[in-house]
Amino acid sequence: MWTVWWITGRGCSSPGVVNTLRRNTLRKGLQMGVTDSSVQPRVGHEALLDAEGLWTDILDYVRPRVSREGFDTWLAPTRGLALSGSVLEVEVPNSFFADWLSQHYSADVRAALTNVSQQEFSVSFRPRDAADTGVLIRRAPVRRPVARQNGYRLQSHLSFENFVVGESNRLAVAAARSVAERPGANYNPLFIYGGVGLGKTHLAQAIGNQAVASKPGLKVYYTAADDLFLELIQAIEKNTRLEFKNKYRCLDLLLLDDVHYLVGKERLQEEVFYIFNSLHDAGSQIVFTSDRPPQDIPALEGRLTSRLGSGLVVDIQAPELETRIAILKQKAAMDRADLPDDVAYFIAARVRTSVRALEGSWIRLLALASLDGHPITVPLAEEALKDLIREEEPVDHNRIIKACAEHFGVTLKDITNGGRTKQLALARQVAMYLLRATLSLSLKEIGGLFDNKDHTTVMHAIKRVGDLKVKDPAFAARLEKLSKGISRGEQR
Ligand code: ADP
Ligand code: MG
Repeated sequence: MWTVWWITGRGCSSPGVVNTLRRNTLRKGLQMGVTDSSVQPRVGHEALLDAEGLWTDILDYVRPRVSREGFDTWLAPTRGLALSGSVLEVEVPNSFFADWLSQHYSADVRAALTNVSQQEFSVSFRPRDAADTGVLIRRAPVRRPVARQNGYRLQSHLSFENFVVGESNRLAVAAARSVAERPGANYNPLFIYGGVGLGKTHLAQAIGNQAVASKPGLKVYYTAADDLFLELIQAIEKNTRLEFKNKYRCLDLLLLDDVHYLVGKERLQEEVFYIFNSLHDAGSQIVFTSDRPPQDIPALEGRLTSRLGSGLVVDIQAPELETRIAILKQKAAMDRADLPDDVAYFIAARVRTSVRALEGSWIRLLALASLDGHPITVPLAEEALKDLIREEEPVDHNRIIKACAEHFGVTLKDITNGGRTKQLALARQVAMYLLRATLSLSLKEIGGLFDNKDHTTVMHAIKRVGDLKVKDPAFAARLEKLSKGISRGEQR
């Protein structure tokens, strides 16, 4: 007996495999999609070749559709082992891999099966190490994204409950929650923007999930602008534009992701303009996301720019240290793994610019720990992240102070040693603010870096910069640029 995880789909188009599959379906055996402890691998020469080839085809299909890191970590170390009845057995390093693959990649593998084949069969993951080929027979239900069931294209795990809130995203989350509770009533449209991997898609999906949960009859639809474009092209080709229009016109809540993609696509812009107007006139809610604010999406027709930004525009910033730690802890809890504080700090201090990268680092560490059976420790994290760490040197206080000095055109000595000109005072205050925001240093620690300034002076500095940020958008933009430059390790 061994641990079995399975995924059901249709078989493969390569002739040898199809033959084997046809023959296999004639055999009395497993029901589609159900594996059993009585399944024994038939590791004959032909079956072996077919299984390998089939799994390679599946991997070729999946590779461009998932992150490179995810593929290298989880899928590359697997191998098609045998075709047994209607089951493709795939060898994986251990049961942890099997679990992970079935939880995170079943949709992709299923899509691959459907795409490369005609026939239904299952994939089962077989852990390689003897210790794992144990007792448990598991028939994990295939986790279909909610999208497949209700046509909303929502993924249930992208919820508000799974979204960690911090200073960097507080406003966006508050707006998103408010929209989810009363679609069409408050901020319409809601426009969320921010850098790559900072949670825009997650938030848009969370709005949809929450809205459907509170009002099951609500007509909600999530799509990304590039998918909308493909849909539009197909509608034009097949002469089904009316259906296309009707589909969107009838919605109560449209979540349109990545609208920066509209740039240069006039036909699509026209359509979005139309969809927007009909939904808005009907009091339906629209949520847009983008990697930049509406006015910075170049070559967008003026009237569309003004529509996009006509409701509430909120941004998501890169998360601060505390939020990054909280996100790591949350991911670990979801994976039921123990992540010690020092390891969380170690990763969070180094991976700063995107939550996706943070998540990727955690996944790598988890995979490494599971492969070697080691506990999760700082040296192991160091090993897991060694490529990343080279890219993202940790921000330390020297780098922040130096960047501020350069930005304001003052010397390092003057900024730290109490020079009193206006320019120096502002440079110092900004440095204190950024030290607090980026490294979460205490007021006392920050004071210590500036000729032992008193903690009330530091507090005053941080408050002044915070006030200026609110009152003066140009200053806020400058501060943001400076802060991002520091994160990316740029010199001025
Ligand atoms: P974007 O659409 O902005 O590029 P995503 O929404 O796809 O980013 O987020 C990237 C990954 O990071 C997703 O797996 C998402 O669940 C996760 N993520 C982003 N922000 C948070 C957060 N605040 N809390 C928990 N997970 C987050
Ligand atoms: Mg996204």
